Amino acid sequence: MKEINEFKQKVLKECPRLKPDSVFRFDCHHGVACFNHCCGDVNIFLTPYDIIRLKNNLGLTSEQFLDRYTFTPFSKDSKFPVVLLQMEDNDRKSCPFNRTEGCSVYLDRPWACRMYPLGVAQPGESADELEEEFYFLLQESVCKGFDEKKEWTIEEYKKAQGVEEYDKHGEPFRNLTTHRYFGEGKMLSPEKMDMFYTVCYDVDNFRRFLFGSTFFDKFIVDDETKAKIKEDDIELLKFGYQWLRFSLFGEKTMTVREDLLAARKTQLGENASL
Ligand code: SF4
Ligand code: SF4
Repeated sequence: MKEINEFKQKVLKECPRLKPDSVFRFDCHHGVACFNHCCGDVNIFLTPYDIIRLKNNLGLTSEQFLDRYTFTPFSKDSKFPVVLLQMEDNDRKSCPFNRTEGCSVYLDRPWACRMYPLGVAQPGESADELEEEFYFLLQESVCKGFDEKKEWTIEEYKKAQGVEEYDKHGEPFRNLTTHRYFGEGKMLSPEKMDMFYTVCYDVDNFRRFLFGSTFFDKFIVDDETKAKIKEDDIELLKFGYQWLRFSLFGEKTMTVREDLLAARKTQLGENASL
């Protein structure tokens, strides 16, 4: 994680700041001499939406996907769990989805792969005060795409790569991870870390927890929402974010059943909680 913090500092200090209408020259296709060379030995952080797209592409449960293809680095300074794609144990440290003909999960490739060679710096992601988001180019020497003639604005490139949908589904996660709770230096307990991991990354187990426990006896959730989250991973994830905001930050994003709370208070005194 130290390397990542150093990289962030370098970006903030040295990289030209680009806007959505900034133009850059780049193209990537089967004909470039470096084709496939960048799909290895990279840190690819997976968002909850990336994981849903990938595990469904591969026909795996979230637990199977996480076990086979990811790792979760942890240090005492970790504010919340992050999940990275596990590179293969070979000389190139290849991405497990890299094939001679290209990416085997191309239609569901992660946000980071879609964005390359663009990076984005957003307020709230580092200790530095950053007033507005900016883009930058990750210009690596291995990449010959910058010698190509095609020109794009940042906006055009993101659209062509299908990033908009990923941004839309990624925003609630970003709001969670840049919450002022973390900015104030507060740390999650090990139990809450586990809960964060399950809700955000292991959605099939989160669903099993919801429908196999007394959860719906404690919180008011309408039948339509229950039906949606039973079937739809994205709806489940949205519900999970609400649950995390309630349980981690004490926000009023869930409604506790009053009768149950009143009964608990009578039983255990005024400070009782569920
Ligand atoms: S997921 Fe696909 S595009 Fe991304 S690094 Fe792996 S092979 Fe390359
Ligand atoms: S190194 Fe650059 S041009 Fe080459 S395959 Fe990767 S992204 Fe495309």
